[in-house]
Amino acid sequence: MRLLPHIFSCCIFLILLSTCKNNTQVDIPDEPLEKIYRIPVVVHILHNGEETGTGPNLSKERIERQIEILNEDYRRKEGTPGYNEHPDGADARIEFVLAKTDPEGLPTNGITRTDISNVENPIENWSMNYLANYQYWNPADYLNIWLYPLDESTTDLVLGLATGPQTDLPGHELFGKGEPEYREGVFVNWIHFGESELSEVYNMGRTLTHEIGHYLGVLHPWSGGDCNENDFCSDTPAVDKPVTSCNAGTGCNGEPIMTNNFMNWTPDACMNIFTKEQVNRMHYVLENSPYRVSLLISPGLTSSN
Ligand SMILES: [Zn+2]
Repeated sequence: MRLLPHIFSCCIFLILLSTCKNNTQVDIPDEPLEKIYRIPVVVHILHNGEETGTGPNLSKERIERQIEILNEDYRRKEGTPGYNEHPDGADARIEFVLAKTDPEGLPTNGITRTDISNVENPIENWSMNYLANYQYWNPADYLNIWLYPLDESTTDLVLGLATGPQTDLPGHELFGKGEPEYREGVFVNWIHFGESELSEVYNMGRTLTHEIGHYLGVLHPWSGGDCNENDFCSDTPAVDKPVTSCNAGTGCNGEPIMTNNFMNWTPDACMNIFTKEQVNRMHYVLENSPYRVSLLISPGLTSSN
């Protein structure tokens, strides 16, 4: 199959691109503390004709549990693996809702299922454009998430991919480009979506938490690959190379690396924190970026009748 090398190149591309540096240069206005941002999502399951609940054609329960995990992580919910008591940790006050109304105004459960085994896809390179050619809802109204029927041999090797927002935040040039030039959203290897029985490392649904972090304007802590130019967040200790271990030691300035940050490549089990400055970037994007601001007033958020 020629698909896999393309996915790898996408991931490597993301590795090279992806970054948060010290000191955010954008003024973040004070907001009412109680404000909650709600984002409607649609999960497009692409499969090869498997029965629902079998292999890549994931069950509704697994999808719903993944959305629950996302909300535990973004709300720093007490009593869940997404909780932390770190002084720099923040409740992102962002919640994700499976779309209730589709682009035609009809009721939906926020999940589409498409058998692609006999569908020609004219897009040559595996990309967001390739995925969107199968299913794509208006990206101004929905966060599109795709699952693709990759082989089980990709377990722990291919995780996910995201396009970044249109923003003037520092480091914006490091994000994968989306609309209007390219189709945008988040791709996750179905194996790592929700709680997986295949992976022992990326098995708690944190791949989606991480990728949506990029979609909302947050970079890897090492993204610029430089101790001074990294993720543009002063409350994530500076690192200049990927953090992949729960015991990663010390960073650029001799401080302990924040190994439990969701934006690392550490195993799911040690992740539990977004920092205040990472959350400030997300809120700035949700208040200012095209294809993000409009999500908050999407018709997908409410039932159609
Ligand atoms: Zn990433």
